[in-house]
Amino acid sequence: MDQRSPSPSFATDALADFEEVVFLRDPRSGARAIVAVHDTTLGPAFGGIRRMAYAGMDAALADVLALARAMTWKCAMAGVPAGGGKAVILDRPGLDRAAAYRLVGDAVARLGGRFHTGPDVGTTDGDLAVVASRTSHCATKAHGDLGGSTADGVFAAMRATAAHAGFDLAKATVLVQGVGAVGQPLCERLHAHGARLVVTDVDGARAVQVAARLRARVVPADQATTVACDVFAPCAIGGVLDERVAEKLPARAVCGAANNVLANEAAGRVLHRRGVPVAPDFVANAGGLVHGVCVELFGQQPERERFLRIGETVARVLAESRAKDVPPEVVALQHARERIRRSAADSAPRA
Ligand code: NAD
Repeated sequence: MDQRSPSPSFATDALADFEEVVFLRDPRSGARAIVAVHDTTLGPAFGGIRRMAYAGMDAALADVLALARAMTWKCAMAGVPAGGGKAVILDRPGLDRAAAYRLVGDAVARLGGRFHTGPDVGTTDGDLAVVASRTSHCATKAHGDLGGSTADGVFAAMRATAAHAGFDLAKATVLVQGVGAVGQPLCERLHAHGARLVVTDVDGARAVQVAARLRARVVPADQATTVACDVFAPCAIGGVLDERVAEKLPARAVCGAANNVLANEAAGRVLHRRGVPVAPDFVANAGGLVHGVCVELFGQQPERERFLRIGETVARVLAESRAKDVPPEVVALQHARERIRRSAADSAPRA
């Protein structure tokens, strides 16, 4: 008999650092979703619900794991007593949307406070109302403008990134990819600050609407990474910068809201070698998380200073990146891991 262990599969290896991953299927509607709790060393897990048409279960799993991990690093860098989690719903034509969100809401309820959820790409206020009808651990409209808070943090991070790169954001051209819940308020803040805007969105009408209001130039969605600008601000989906795109990106800095914007570590190394500072996404886009944690765990709205601190953290990370000649996302990840390691050591029972 063959005594060797079975060859490792993608899923089991990738799950090794997760506390809990729940696969969900509603037998009546066929709706499918995954909820992942990555790490609760610092506090209960926080993460929004993404609804997207995935190629299949493997793609959805890969996405939810990467997003949940990024939430853990985000919480650690934002200095909030929370950990990382995420939920994804597999979208498809004819999906019973309410059933899908009820499915996730019930799973969040069963986790009993170990996971708090809220908005992400594809999830509207109406969807969140469905989730909130099943669990109290869901951020809704009543919590305040989470997208606006994320935009506040990204704006602070962008000012710090521009200063680090040696230019004034008020005189800069910023290309915002995706003008949704975060991209739009970010454009408003940039416009008020004096920056010139270039916007793009797969929803062309939305881009045109924002452009008309904020005197921006619209470019087609497939030109987002080829149009010259001072700051490239990805506020749509992740993975938009791989090595090939990074090598040619005609921007002096990168700072946006999209999670996991670097497709791989090599893309980060290319931009670092080219002298293009990248504000680590899990540091820059923490504003909504900070807002959600303040309301959910402490029952209060966050002070504005908390978003300004995101800019200070980005400035410190970029300075260390330059001093050590290491890409900024590597520096930030080291700090996040160290904070979790120290917290785990502090709370370990003494012999
Ligand atoms: P959203 O769904 O409200 O907006 C996304 C926008 O991007 C939409 O207008 C959509 O049409 C557009 N879009 C999608 N794919 C595109 C593409 N390939 N090219 C151009 N445009 C595209 O989402 P959001 O809440 O604004 O979040 C945007 C990003 O920021 C996501 O990656 C999300 O995970 C991240 N993020 C959001 C928050 C938050 O508070 N909402 C917090 C942290 C991170």
